[in-house]
Amino acid sequence: MRKPIIAGNWKMYKSFDEAVEFVEAVREAVPSEEKVDAVVCAPAIYLPTLVDIATETDLAIGAQNMHFEEEGAFTGEISPAQLASIHVDYVILGHSERRELFNETDEAVNKKVKAALAHGIVPIICCGETLEEREAGNTEAKVSGQIRAALEGFSADEVAHMVLAYEPIWAIGTGKTATADDANQVCGAIRDVVKELYGAETAEAIRIQYGGSVKPENIVELLSKEHIDGALVGGASLQVESYLKLLEAG
Ligand code: PGA
Repeated sequence: MRKPIIAGNWKMYKSFDEAVEFVEAVREAVPSEEKVDAVVCAPAIYLPTLVDIATETDLAIGAQNMHFEEEGAFTGEISPAQLASIHVDYVILGHSERRELFNETDEAVNKKVKAALAHGIVPIICCGETLEEREAGNTEAKVSGQIRAALEGFSADEVAHMVLAYEPIWAIGTGKTATADDANQVCGAIRDVVKELYGAETAEAIRIQYGGSVKPENIVELLSKEHIDGALVGGASLQVESYLKLLEAG
């Protein structure tokens, strides 16, 4: 049995005070780590404070991006070593907004995954198709290409501990969710790719989230599906009440 993992992706929302207030409100209320992995991926400048507030609770804090280089002249970037030095547990990599708006390539995502593992940070690796790609019947080709590229060059054991997130781009922030059956089908196809590359045991172990307009009203059905092991949630992770409801479904 795979343990569900529910991760909030705050994107570029919340003031510092709002972020602190949120984590203070949820840290004791999150369900036990034995039942569900609860994660909040916050803006980078808030991370040290939030990690501090969440210490010794069942809430984990994650980043939304990072560079793959260890250090150097990369103005404005944050390195995996820097994230590790403040004890960040997770990092979202290859989110479609980063791919589309900040030109992040499959190759860069692969390097970032390597860098995250080298520093003991669990990568949440995103993939997903555009509406045009879906309508042209290219969903699985697009998604499996992104996953193959991201997972190149690891051991089966390393892959087993990663998290993948299937996020159809047309469903992100639009209120349009993929049907639970459609989402499950694509997550199953992703699991097949992992099986082909790293074997059945790894494919059974790796957790695959669905993301794209997940909310308390639809998460239960999504999580009831065989291949959906959690959710990556933007909008509905911003309020304490709805974030806790999402976790309860886990
Ligand atoms: P959404 O965002 O839940 O607001 O659709 C999901 C995401 O981008 O991770």
